[in-house]
Amino acid sequence: MPLRSWSLRWQLVGAQMAVVVVGVVTLLAATELILRLVGAEGLQAILAAEGGGSAGAPPPEAASALLAVVRRTVRNALAIAATAATLVGLAVSVLLTNELLRPLKEIARSSRRIAGGHYGERVRAAGSLELVEMANNFNMMAETLDQIEAQRITLIGNVTHELRTPLTALGGYLEGLLDGVLDADPETISQMEAEVRRLGRLVNDLQTLSRVESGAVPLRIEPQDLVPLVRRVTTNLAPQAAAGALNLRLSLPPGRITVLADPDRAVQILMNLVGNAIRYTPEGGTIEVGARVLPASVEVTVWDDGIGIPADALPYIFERFYRVDRSRTRATGGSGIGLTIARHLAWAMGGDLVVESEGPDRGTLFRLTLPRVAGAA
Ligand code: ADP
Repeated sequence: MPLRSWSLRWQLVGAQMAVVVVGVVTLLAATELILRLVGAEGLQAILAAEGGGSAGAPPPEAASALLAVVRRTVRNALAIAATAATLVGLAVSVLLTNELLRPLKEIARSSRRIAGGHYGERVRAAGSLELVEMANNFNMMAETLDQIEAQRITLIGNVTHELRTPLTALGGYLEGLLDGVLDADPETISQMEAEVRRLGRLVNDLQTLSRVESGAVPLRIEPQDLVPLVRRVTTNLAPQAAAGALNLRLSLPPGRITVLADPDRAVQILMNLVGNAIRYTPEGGTIEVGARVLPASVEVTVWDDGIGIPADALPYIFERFYRVDRSRTRATGGSGIGLTIARHLAWAMGGDLVVESEGPDRGTLFRLTLPRVAGAA
């Protein structure tokens, strides 16, 4: 049987016993070698020298008898020492393995429980430094799994909630039509169509979210002039801004601004930021899209003087489904996934997306950074 398949306890006991056996055999061999080298004649000469030659040389039988006595005494002493070493070795192995096995068994038991879905499981950190470190690492891993599980449950809850709203509305319209309470007039049909569009948008957003979060979005990153991309966004959204009597303006430095980005994804992020600015800025407000060339990157800013974001909401603004004012955003069809997608896209392109706001009614500023081509304008 290979050594690896033995339990740790028996490996330790085996190792201790091997030390005892090797010690005893070595001592026996060394003693035998010394006795053989000295031999009966040598011993006789030693005894004669010890006796000072006064009583004459001792008989050879006396030397042989002495040799036998020495041999027996050494063997007896070794037998006692080997027994004591074996007992101490066994005791030490048992104590050591108990000390080692207790936390290992605890971790094995806890990992089985975690595998069974009990993510709140933790182990005690006790014993030697290494065991404490292992227990702490295990607990950290369990904590991460616990958080992932909690996020998964929240995500399912959020998705269900978001799907239920348009489905309930559609169900209500259909019921009204069937009961004859509602007429199939253009207004009802267009309201039903808006709900279907909201569902479609949500499903698309969820698909994009799962792709960006798993890093599965194909990117075509190449040097781009940022200016036409920004203009494309402001031109696209100009009608919406005009509808809200908003002043949508550009503040770009002259000339080309070359960034390393996927043009479609950069436009997608900016559409989300400017779209939000339009959505959350009251009539007559101002939105400004600017750009600044930094040593290693380009910073695009989307600023508005709209409703702003309270300080306690700022840390959560990029979390999935997070909305500051649920009732308000529900009315405008926002699902709270746009900024999560935008930030992941920025990260995927080697950039970042951050937010600043001085609070309610003090406006909002988003800073999108994208890598710059070294040496380019
Ligand atoms: P939504 O689709 O709800 O707009 P986002 O992920 O794009 O989702 O935004 C998340 C939340 O951040 C919004 O619901 C809103 O509360 C807040 N928010 C985003 N942009 C702005 C802004 N420019 N001004 C004020 N609040 C904003």
